[in-house]
Amino acid sequence: MTKIMNKVAVVTGSSRGIGAATAKMLAVEGYAVVINYLTNKEAATSVQRDIENKGGRCMIVQADVASENDVTCLFQRADEMGTLAVLVNNAGILDKQTRLTDISAERFQRIMQTNVLSCFLCTKEAVKRMSTKQGGQGGTIVNVSSAAAKTGAPNEYVDYAASKGAMDSLTRGAALELADEGIRVNAVRPGLIETDMHRLGGEPDRVNRLKGVLPLKRGGTTEEVAEGIVWLASEKSAFVTGSLLDIAGGL
Ligand code: NAP
Repeated sequence: MTKIMNKVAVVTGSSRGIGAATAKMLAVEGYAVVINYLTNKEAATSVQRDIENKGGRCMIVQADVASENDVTCLFQRADEMGTLAVLVNNAGILDKQTRLTDISAERFQRIMQTNVLSCFLCTKEAVKRMSTKQGGQGGTIVNVSSAAAKTGAPNEYVDYAASKGAMDSLTRGAALELADEGIRVNAVRPGLIETDMHRLGGEPDRVNRLKGVLPLKRGGTTEEVAEGIVWLASEKSAFVTGSLLDIAGGL
């Protein structure tokens, strides 16, 4: 089980949903995992218990990844565990389904800060530690974008879709800029995954309502997304960078 000694993986927003599934899978691969959460300590503790019960290493760190100061502290805590090898920029939010004209500037900024600024801030911290040009040993960064980057999420949350479009551009730009510094950057673009996130949009049963639209006629599981993330984080994808992997049932 302990294939990768003292290599650290930071997974933002890993108390629940896709992040939690990813943290657990990376721990099984032998990474020391940093479980990050915003408010739900109980959920983060449950992920920690699950990992430790299977013999894995992890720590929980509360941090708002939209805050530069919190992000600095998050990575300082991660340094206590070993050498940063993997960053998964997973934390993300959406807000109530509504038309574009009803989205306030405050909401738009909040979505952008949590979904995009966080990704940018965490990437900067990771590069400082991973870059072979700065004495690091390289590493991988996986961004959790969304199929919404393609659909635009009309009449639901175009702000969220726009934030994911920005993540895709950030993925490409960072991948090309960091390719000769030992750092690969890729993204997954999940669609209709069974998590609590849909509750934030005001429709907890959204996956069930829309699953028929997908060619595969079902929603996806958090583990199915985590498999893609862990593959992109691993040496098995060594020739892949700047790629956007759709995990969305054909969408
Ligand atoms: P989720 O179940 O709602 O979990 C969100 C996670 O993010 C929680 O761990 C939450 O922490 C954390 N979080 C939220 N804001 C944060 C902040 N400011 N700082 C640190 N952590 C924060 O969501 P999910 O469905 O797993 O989504 C994970 C990612 O997948 C998101 O980027 C989302 O956009 C993307 N995605 C999801 C779907 C889908 O259908 N579910 C589809 C495409 C893309 P707390 O537990 O403390 O609240």
